[in-house]
Formats: sequence, structure tokens, C-alpha cells
Amino acid sequence: MDNQANCTCSACGAPYRMDIHPSINVSKEPSLKAAVLDGSLFMWECPQCGQKNLARYTTLYHDPSQKLLILLSDGNSKAEEALAKAFSQSSEMEGYTARFVDDVGTLMEKVKIFDAGLDDRAMEMCKYVTCMEMGKTLNFKFFRLDGADGDITLTYPGNGQMEMVNIGFNVYSDCERILARNPSITEGSTGFVRIDNRWISQFLG
Ligand SMILES: [Zn+2]
Repeated sequence: MDNQANCTCSACGAPYRMDIHPSINVSKEPSLKAAVLDGSLFMWECPQCGQKNLARYTTLYHDPSQKLLILLSDGNSKAEEALAKAFSQSSEMEGYTARFVDDVGTLMEKVKIFDAGLDDRAMEMCKYVTCMEMGKTLNFKFFRLDGADGDITLTYPGNGQMEMVNIGFNVYSDCERILARNPSITEGSTGFVRIDNRWISQFLG
């Protein structure tokens, strides 16, 4: 069994063998989706000192019901290219949305965005526009969509805590319309891609 990884406690240096999930099919194992969303899939508590550690490992998240694939990547470009190639050649993957992400927080964010029925490309534009309006560069993450008016809540790291900002759904709708009118932007988002601030900045920056 190769589904364990050697970890080291960030506080006391004690070694730990952690159970990992190199691939997740959330239709087959819905509990793993919950564990992605609350982060527990990647957390381990040190048996020596009680420190909660975040493990980094590569996971392929697959939700067949949403036709969604997300690779939590370790940045190995060869592995990414191979996966992207297999993806583009597989007829089973037709109609799928496929994303590379580089950290657990972004994986959680993507799952939330697609759960809410939103488009992560429009969301990146929304975040970009909100930064411009606030006049500063903030590392926004989509948190939730709620309320009768469909307000979108974004979080960002502030003074030692998570800050929140609400934006109207109309901002998101505007971004969606802009994308629909600009196929040159969305053309670059087919196949396995990274949709992040850098991606949207190349069009708007
Ligand atoms: Zn420890």
C-alpha cells in the first residue's frame, strides 16, 4: 500500500505516517468531499505534542455528477502535462471542467464555487474587480453564495484573522457577461488549466 506518506510535525519534528488519498471520487465516497471542504483530509494531529499539521500531497479530485476534475498539484509540470494530454484524449472526459490548483485552500474554494453553480473564471474576474474597487491587492477566496439577493461572500486574510467582504450578485453577473462576449478569454480555459489571479490578470492587467 502506497497510500501513506511520511510527515514531520511542524512544531516538535516528530515523524508521522499519514493516510493519504491520491485520488478521490466523491460520487463513490461522499464523505471524502466533506473532508476536503473542512480541510480534514489534509490535517493530522501530532500524537507527541498535539500540533495540528497540514499535509501537502497530490490529489486528483473527481466529481462525476458535476463533471469536475481538480488536480491538487505539487507543481510537477511533467505530471501535469501528462494528465492534461490524457484528459484531452479521453472521450469519457468530454464536457468536463478540469483545473490545476496549487494549495488545499484553492481546492476547497474551487469545490465551493462549482457546488454553488458558479463559474470560476467569472469568479476570478469578480475578485479582480473587487480588488480594484477596494484599491488594494487582496488574496480573496470565494466563501459562499447566499441570501435572497444571492450575495457573494469573499474572504481574505486581514490583521491576523479572516476578513469578509460581501459583493452583490450583479457584479458576478456582469463578469459572466463580459466573459461571454470575449471568447478570446474563455478559449484559453478549455482543457486542464489553472484559473487564478494570474490567469485573469493576463487579460485585464
Ligand atoms: Zn509534534
